[in-house]
Order: sequence, then C-alpha cells, then structure tokens
Amino acid sequence: MAQLDRRTFLAGAAVVAFDPADSRWLSSLPENSTAIQLPHLDGELVTDEDALTEAATDYGHLKNHRPRAVLRPGSVDDVVTLVRFANEHGLVVAVRGQGHSTFGQAQADCGVVIDSRTLAAIHEITPDRAVVDAGVQWLDLVRATLAVGVAPPVSTDYLGLSVGGTLCVGGIGGASQQFGMLVDNTVELQVVTGEGHLVTCSAEQEPELFEAVLGGLGQFAVIVRATVRLETAPAMARVYTLTYPRITDLTAAQRTALADGRFDYLEGQLVPTDDDGFAFVLEGGAWYTTEPPDDAALLAGIEPPGVDLVDVPYFEWLNRLYETVEQIEALRLPGPWLNAFLPDAATDEIVTELLTTLTPADAGGALLYPARRSLITRPQVRVPDGEVFFLLALLRAVSPPDDAEAERLIADNDALYARVLAAGGTQYPVNALRLTPADWRTHYGDRWPTVLHAKDRYDPRGVLTPGQGIFEPLSRASRTP
Ligand SMILES: Cc1cc2nc3c(=O)[nH]c(=O)nc-3n(C[C@H](O)[C@H](O)[C@H](O)COP(=O)(O)OP(=O)(O)OC[C@H]3O[C@@H](n4cnc5c(N)ncnc54)[C@H](O)[C@@H]3O)c2cc1C
Repeated sequence: MAQLDRRTFLAGAAVVAFDPADSRWLSSLPENSTAIQLPHLDGELVTDEDALTEAATDYGHLKNHRPRAVLRPGSVDDVVTLVRFANEHGLVVAVRGQGHSTFGQAQADCGVVIDSRTLAAIHEITPDRAVVDAGVQWLDLVRATLAVGVAPPVSTDYLGLSVGGTLCVGGIGGASQQFGMLVDNTVELQVVTGEGHLVTCSAEQEPELFEAVLGGLGQFAVIVRATVRLETAPAMARVYTLTYPRITDLTAAQRTALADGRFDYLEGQLVPTDDDGFAFVLEGGAWYTTEPPDDAALLAGIEPPGVDLVDVPYFEWLNRLYETVEQIEALRLPGPWLNAFLPDAATDEIVTELLTTLTPADAGGALLYPARRSLITRPQVRVPDGEVFFLLALLRAVSPPDDAEAERLIADNDALYARVLAAGGTQYPVNALRLTPADWRTHYGDRWPTVLHAKDRYDPRGVLTPGQGIFEPLSRASRTP
C-alpha cells in the first residue's frame, strides 16, 4: 500500500475519453459518438478492476463507494486538468493519500479518485523547512530530514500517512502539547481549488484559502504541495512509561507535566490488564543528543509505583508503529474509530463514566492525552473552549470481522459523540460516525457561515471530497455549468 510500484502503475487500462451521456470512461474514442476526448495527461486515468477496488476501500473497511476512474497524476497539471474536467461534466473527485481514513472519507461514489502516491517528490530540505508533494509519506520525509539533522517538530504516532491527508485533518501527536498540530507547522501550500485554479497560499498570500484548506477535510482544494517547518533534531529519545492504578491519577500527572512542559512528548494510554480492565499509562518522552535528561526532575511529583524507561534512537521512536500497523492492516478488520477532544473540566467525568462499560476488546488501542488550545492556530480544527483539552481516541478493530459488531460500535460512537458534544467537546474528524450535514453544522458552530462561504468561493459546484458528507450532495445536473 505504501508505494505504488511501477509495474502497478503501468498495468492500468488507460482512459482516453468520457461519454457524458452515460458517465462512462472509454479507452478509445468511437467515431460519431457523444464521447469527449480527454485532455492530455502526463500520468494516466485508469478504470481497471484493481484500481477501482482499491479506491473503494480504506483502513476502516466500513464503507465501499466505487469510483468510475482513478487518476494517477504524473504532474500537478494533471490535477488541474482533471478538476477542471470534473467541473465541466458534473463529476465528483476525491484525493486518496494513504487511504487511512476509516469511514469512506477518501472515496468518491461514481466519481474519480486521485491517487496522490504518484505525486510524491521531496523538492527541498533546508535547515528550517521542507517543500514536499502532498503524496509524500511522513516516513519518507522524516528519513530524508533526519539524514541532514533536522525533523518536523510534531509527528503523528504512525508515519505511514500522506502529507496531504494529514494536513486535511490536523495531525496530532505527543509533541502537540509543545508545538500544536502538523497544520500549525505548515507555512505554505500549493493547491488546486475546487474550480481548478492552481494557487499558492500562506498566512500572507491568499490567507482565506490557506485557512480554509488546513484542517479543511479536502472540501475547498486539492493540496498538491506543502512547505512544512523543520527544526534541529535530537539523536535520542528517553521514553518514560509511568503506570497508574486509576484514570484520575493519570490525568492529574498529565496536567502537572503539561503545565510545566517538562516532556518533549506527552501521551497516555488505557492498557488492557489480565483481569479485563485497564492500567493507566503516561508516556513521556525527553529528547537528547549528548547529555541524557535528568530523571529525577522529569519524575518529580508524578512518580507512580511503576516506572519504566528506555533510550532509543530518535528515528526509531518516531517510527515505532509502522510494522505493527502494517500487520493490522493486512488483516483487513473493520475499524470503527472514535476520536474526540474533551474539555479539561469534563475529561475525568466522561472517561470515568466510559470505563464503567468499556471492555478492552471494544476499546482497541485507547489513547488519552492533553494538548493546549493556544497552540492550535488553524480555525478549521475545532477544539473545545478552555486552554487545556484531551484527545480521547478509541482505535477500535472488530476481530474477527463481523458486520453486526461493527454496527454496534458505530452506534456506540454516535452515543459517545453526543455525550462529548453535550459536555462542550468536539470530534477530531478521523472517525466512523454517522454524521449528517446538520451534525457538521454543529461541529463548525459559529464558523459555519465562513465554511459555507469558502465552499461557495472555492468549490462552488461541490466537486471535491463527497465522502466527508459535510454538505448536502448536489445532483450531477446542478453541478454542471
Ligand atoms: C494507523 C493509523 C494511525 C494514525 N495516527 C494518527 C496520529 O497519530 N495523529 C493523527 O492526527 N492522525 C492519525 N491518524 C489519522 C490520520 O491522520 C487521518 O486518517 C489522515 O487523513 C490519513 O491520511 P491518509 O494519507 O491516509 O489520508 P486519506 O485517508 O487518503 O484521506 C483523508 C482525507 O483527506 C483527503 N485528502 C487526502 N489527500 C488530500 C490532498 N492532497 N488534498 C486534498 N484532500 C486530500 C481525502 O479525500 C480524505 O477526505 C491515524 C490513522 C491510522 C489509520
């Protein structure tokens, strides 16, 4: 899945024409037909079974919307060409990065999926920034930057995600408590708007577009290139695993550590125990190159009975999950994930309540860790009021696969999200939740008019990213000019 190999790339049946009468893509242009020749592409548009099947699946295996064609762009111009063509002919388009969505967010029912894996060049690395194509995986960027002693200040826990896919949602990790999300560390984007205009945007240039796209769930433009911040990288990570008997001991220790910023990395997990309950684990990381960190200072006031520590090369720490995720992915299990941001004041109550019914089997990998609102600078990323909020992530997997179990957990997600909303929380939108456009309106709150305005301005025909379900779908006729 990670890379699209050259053989696969060449095996597709290339399309040369489109028949708007019945929305069919054709590999030859019949004489005297209503079909229209496709403009020149540097890459190719394919309709073969393997390509369509792959584009209709994702990490969650809960939704299956087949596109009618897949674009493997050979250039940014190809993205412009395809998006303009889609505007002219009333088609929907979604980009698929690494397909790690869980609920069809990168799918385009009967439309065209742009597979961004063929747009994956790292253009430039300087001491403080990197310029990369949107299809680059963070793993490849981190490898390349560490080779010259620098790295992005924040990383997601798993690096097999595309730059474009993560910048569409936010990108949170254990360093977010120090540096915000990936979107807060992005300085410039090159995008193709929903109308097919290639635009460079930043806080200074086209700021409205920049603000709309970062964390914008693919609704306003296709990200084709990003300039991301880098800083000097450490050589090593010392990682402390602190195990607490009660959830409130964990959150108290996390609040103390967040307040004085003692760790470079701060997360937390609910770890299954032998008696079908959970232990509550703080994961704190301190980076160093020569002098190891001061253990006593880092543990002062938060030391539980159980402390483990390990020193690992920084790259190994950043890339600690890659193989595990590949193994899980190979099982193709339904993944009804739920990620929510809880206001600090409601966190203990919500999680304590949740723990009265949550079993390790239903929880999957369960994360709980704090971050600071003042570091979240991109308004499309909706976080609760108050300076501190917690990410609660239930990274559920249904094993063995079972549709009824998956449905039960999706319904459970819906109920938990309602509880989170009532407490002033928000969702981190990488979920399996049954959201209507009205729910999205609630999600965006007082920002909704700005979101609508941006959609009207940048993607007026509703071409982009239907799988998020944010707007009422337009009929093909009303999308056609
Ligand atoms: C195992 C695993 C671990 C994860 N860990 C973390 C984590 O630690 N922190 C975190 O924040 N998130 C995490 N996530 C969630 C992840 O960040 C999102 O699901 C992300 O969107 C996935 O990136 P992708 O490249 O697979 O995107 P896809 O699933 O391919 O796409 C996601 C959405 O973005 C759109 N999109 C993709 N590329 C572009 C583009 N170039 N331009 C416009 N729209 C685009 C798609 O159409 C879709 O709507 C994890 C997910 C998984 C499965």
